[in-house]
Amino acid sequence: EEYVYSTYEKIEKIEELNAFTYVEKADVVLKEVKARLAEGRGRLTGLLIAIKDNISVRGMPNTCGSRMLSNYISPYDATVIRKLREEGAVVVGKTNMDEFAMGSTTETSYFGPVRNPLDPERIAGGSSGGSAVAVAADVVKLALGSDTGGSIRAPASFTGIYGLKPSYGTVSRYGLVAYANSLEQIGPFAQNPEDLELLYDVIRGPDPKDSTTISDQPESPAQVDMKGLRVGLLVDVTGASEPPVRSVTETVANKLSDEGASVKEVTLGLTDYLVPAYYIIAMSEASSNLARYDGVRYGYSTGTDGTWKEVYGKTRGEGFGTEVKRRILLGSFILSAGYYEQYYLKALKVRTLVIKQLTSLLKEVNVLLSPTMPILPPKLGEVISDPIRMYMMDVNTVVANLTGAPSLSLPAGKVGKLSVGVQLTGPHLSDFYLIQIARSLR
Ligand code: GLN
Repeated sequence: EEYVYSTYEKIEKIEELNAFTYVEKADVVLKEVKARLAEGRGRLTGLLIAIKDNISVRGMPNTCGSRMLSNYISPYDATVIRKLREEGAVVVGKTNMDEFAMGSTTETSYFGPVRNPLDPERIAGGSSGGSAVAVAADVVKLALGSDTGGSIRAPASFTGIYGLKPSYGTVSRYGLVAYANSLEQIGPFAQNPEDLELLYDVIRGPDPKDSTTISDQPESPAQVDMKGLRVGLLVDVTGASEPPVRSVTETVANKLSDEGASVKEVTLGLTDYLVPAYYIIAMSEASSNLARYDGVRYGYSTGTDGTWKEVYGKTRGEGFGTEVKRRILLGSFILSAGYYEQYYLKALKVRTLVIKQLTSLLKEVNVLLSPTMPILPPKLGEVISDPIRMYMMDVNTVVANLTGAPSLSLPAGKVGKLSVGVQLTGPHLSDFYLIQIARSLR
């Protein structure tokens, strides 16, 4: 009881940060916690967990931060939620996010922006800002987010916690509202590497309900031998970061070499093409995925009076926000006859090149080190007004999504009251290996 009620006190205390879109009733949660405790011990028994509002939890809203789904209640559990329940965890609420996970700042939500607990004048990063804040402000120890182009790692980095974008195919996307299927994974947030490992271990695994999950799963190494570790410091992106971010990253590189790892400077190349290729693919997939919000089957509707075109147009005009509309328009344009080859196919070719390049780099070194975000968390309103500037914030994170590689953000240093995160990226299925390295960096 004390644990449950103190969690609700903390939720109230951070109300101004706008981290939650929905909080379950305290008596319902308490009853569930007691029931789980009575059943016996799972790995998460009785633990409260916060879930990004694009992952289906039966009986709770699943708004995706959008007016379009503001009245939608999930009729079923996502596979990750089923797995959490099997281990005894209890969902305390749904967390705020950029509308349909489109953003890097958690400011495009229909429910207003999320603020950074380290400095409420600044953004918490996005799109899984609410989940990161819930963990960073110690409301919950664990939360789930989704990462299509950095949405777990960006807010983990800006709020000073750990976040993992898992290897593609290791976590089921069944029950995750799709933004860009080929890029995204559900992943964990935690305050330390041990908890991150536990949560990832609980949610991962093949799932017949998601045909992109794989039966090969990452193995947990007993320990990483720091003496034999070869680290590649991505110098081009590190050098292009804001000076305080650069110096924190270099400090981590030095720490790794003090512990016996060999650190060498490497470049991925292709840097200018990463963000354009990512956004072309992401917007194309998004325009197709979001076609289903027609005002008839579910979600917001302006009513069914009028022609199909009138109903569809009015519903979508009122239901979607500016950033989502921008992406549907650009995505539809990119996929239209005549432009498909010029943009979409070209982006796919870039993607193949990035995969080749990363694969060959990861033969030279075991793991890549870079800043997670090239900048410190900006003030609210600062980047959102300039979409290109916002998209450029993702230059370091999108590589893992384009290639399917695992990537982990860990808190690495402080600049005033702000936190700086660095990112470890390794070969496909090296998730536990990355977590071990994060552990040795504590
Ligand atoms: N900022 C990126 C985008 O807007 C990534 C978002 C995400 O990972 N969901 O697409």
